[in-house]
Amino acid sequence: MLENLIAQPADKILALMAAYKADPRDTKVDLGVGVYKDASGNTPVMRAVKEAERRILADQSSKSYTGLAGDPAFSDAMIDLVLDGAVARDRIAAVATPGGTGAIRQALELIKMAAPDATVWLSNPTWPNHPSIIKYLGMKMFEYRYFDSETRGVDFAGLIEDLGTVPAGDVVLIHGCCHNPTGANLTAEQLSEVIALLKSRGAIPLVDIAYQGFGDGLDDDAQATRAIASSFDEVLIAASCSKNFGIYRERTGILMAISATAEGQPLTQQTLAFLNRQNYSFPPDHGARVVTTILTDPELRADWEAELEETRNGMLALRQQLADELKRLTNSDRFSFLADHRGMFSRLGTTPEMVEKLRADHGIYMVGDSRMNIAGLNAKTVPILAKAIVDAGI
Ligand code: PMP
Repeated sequence: MLENLIAQPADKILALMAAYKADPRDTKVDLGVGVYKDASGNTPVMRAVKEAERRILADQSSKSYTGLAGDPAFSDAMIDLVLDGAVARDRIAAVATPGGTGAIRQALELIKMAAPDATVWLSNPTWPNHPSIIKYLGMKMFEYRYFDSETRGVDFAGLIEDLGTVPAGDVVLIHGCCHNPTGANLTAEQLSEVIALLKSRGAIPLVDIAYQGFGDGLDDDAQATRAIASSFDEVLIAASCSKNFGIYRERTGILMAISATAEGQPLTQQTLAFLNRQNYSFPPDHGARVVTTILTDPELRADWEAELEETRNGMLALRQQLADELKRLTNSDRFSFLADHRGMFSRLGTTPEMVEKLRADHGIYMVGDSRMNIAGLNAKTVPILAKAIVDAGI
């Protein structure tokens, strides 16, 4: 049986990590995998997470199953964090999932059950796992233009033109904030236009929000998701706690499905619980309990928000330093987009050959589409990267 398997495409980012590890140069810089790193290259456990874990360890008296949808207190806390009352609670069905990836997977399966013929529209580019899971599920997908490789901002005219052709009932996947892999985001005005257009087309939004708090702040980063949630009858939202709580390996996420009416919510909730049951039964609890503990305790929450702000501001400072350094070296504003981008990533907007040249000649490791993890930099490596970019003639 197993000899019939066909080799699946290797994960390019994991291959890049291995190549970085094997590189003996001490000036090498890892801008590959999408994990936050502090100035010394560590991915720390956040203070509030440590304290929440200490409390859970001391107080937890049972490891018995939670509900199929996870702990309702986690759903309430996350709905509040992401939506902050933008939608009536009784219209929202929610299930805990293994990470944001689990939420996206369950969202797609829900779509497949409710609208098997729907096409899912993805930004070009998007996080590669989106098309990969859609393809695996045998669903239809289509791309809409997103990135302008000249300005390295959003190709808004192209986006509007493409989304203007979405048929009624199709699903449009939108990054809630901090677009991965480009770092380029819609302005609030542009988002309003997109919302009006998609409403007029009868499309259903699927929002993927994996970096709340990494861009402009916890509330600002949720504004697009809240605006979308409050504008449509039906919306799906996949949220990840991996980055903003730094609990990547705990696999903590949530899928929210907003029904048109409160009367429709129980059927959606029951179906989400069914989907959890089919795929893995009860969702993981530890990370969800950590998140709930932090969000519901004022002191822990304040400390978490403060540390998240430090993280966010650190990344913004690195962006600014890199843009400034490139301005100094090139005597131009060609790279000012790096300071305008938000989140952990920026797409440099160069060719795979140049990406390879940066790796071979300078030990700079970025993903082949020229996505850079800004958190992989520190004050010392920014000038190394800037010089390498200029030396390579980008
Ligand atoms: N969506 C996007 C856009 C992401 O970048 C990620 C993480 N790389 C996720 C979802 C999900 O992450 P996780 O499953 O680790 O929570």
